[in-house]
Amino acid sequence: MSQKSKNFETQAVRTQTEKTQFLEHSTPMYLTSGFVFEDSEEMRAAFAEEKDRNLYSRFSNPNTTEFVDKICKLEGAEDGYAFATGMAAVFSTFASLLDAGDHIVSARSVFGSTHSLFTKYFPKWNIETSYFPVNELDIVESLIQPNTKIIYAESPTNPGVDVLDLELLGRIAEKHKLLLIIDNCFATPYLQNPIKFGADLVIHSATKLIDGQGRVLGGVTVGKKELIKEIYLFSRNTGPSLSPFNAWVLSKSLETLAVRVDRHCENALKLAEFLESHPKVNWVKYPFLKSHPQYEVAKKQMKLGGNIVAFEVKNGVEGGKTFFDSVKMCSLSANLGDTRTIVTHPASTTHSKLAVEDKLAVGITDGMVRCSVGLEHIDDIIKDIKQALEKI
Ligand SMILES: *Cc1c(COP(=O)(O)O)cnc(C)c1O
Repeated sequence: MSQKSKNFETQAVRTQTEKTQFLEHSTPMYLTSGFVFEDSEEMRAAFAEEKDRNLYSRFSNPNTTEFVDKICKLEGAEDGYAFATGMAAVFSTFASLLDAGDHIVSARSVFGSTHSLFTKYFPKWNIETSYFPVNELDIVESLIQPNTKIIYAESPTNPGVDVLDLELLGRIAEKHKLLLIIDNCFATPYLQNPIKFGADLVIHSATKLIDGQGRVLGGVTVGKKELIKEIYLFSRNTGPSLSPFNAWVLSKSLETLAVRVDRHCENALKLAEFLESHPKVNWVKYPFLKSHPQYEVAKKQMKLGGNIVAFEVKNGVEGGKTFFDSVKMCSLSANLGDTRTIVTHPASTTHSKLAVEDKLAVGITDGMVRCSVGLEHIDDIIKDIKQALEKI
């Protein structure tokens, strides 16, 4: 592309690998495990990393490169690496940067499998984690130890939709010379760019709004070049790389990210406003509702409020179950960020085994419902949720 535009939509549509001899308009799929060399010298230079070229698709592939280049432009990052899933991105990022004996300071409310890494697996390598409640950023500094290496958080959080002040976390990380890593999955690069606020690395589960159509899994980590180099070297040996097919799907998806997320957010705000005035609803949490405890922070760091709305129905676990069993159109599914509106009731499903205080720590109450607002007509989404609320 000769025309240099910095506009998000244009970058998302026009970032492309080089055309082949066929001058295809849409990037083709490069379903190849390996790449060929002209002679021994060329192969030697490639393996010695003297030459920047594709060798083997565990290392790089034109489709994954296009996907990563786009995310880098959309996040304002120097470099990146794409993974088979969001969790592969989270695990490989930590595993490549941490040594035995290192320490993490993390928000209490993080994605369930990330929490399992911290509590179940990292301790095997003597890597411990200290937690701060999402609404108490003033205690972050008190948790820092001489062996702390990383501050980690998600914003907005899953499933509580809490918002953390990224600028404040960025300042703390800089002051203590720690790495700030942000899981930006709920916001997407369209709504929020953590690097602007001081994050060193940004992680996405591309499975969610980046694909946006519930088809493929994927993950990506982008940020500072020297850190990505470590992550790349670790990953090209350990093999969590994204498949070229999924990279092709995800790169195409990014072309429509802005228009999709605009509508997701418009629908989510309308649903949140509807729920706020409903008699069967105790509370609603959505970053761009004035009643959200971190509304000002959300306005400062996000373009729009995202597509996740959390709310509490009356009658606790029973109310939640009744609501869950009464929706007709909305899907009961664990995914989120799909075109289809999805509802989950964490207390009776995904989080049913947690102790009450652990549930509360991540923002889950008995009657709490998480809604991933989709792209159906908003009138139909509200109609379905309204009739389900009336059954409580
Ligand atoms: C889904 C999710 C992940 C994990 O992504 P997968 O692609 O399912 O492995 C990580 N972080 C957040 C915030 C998520 O929502």
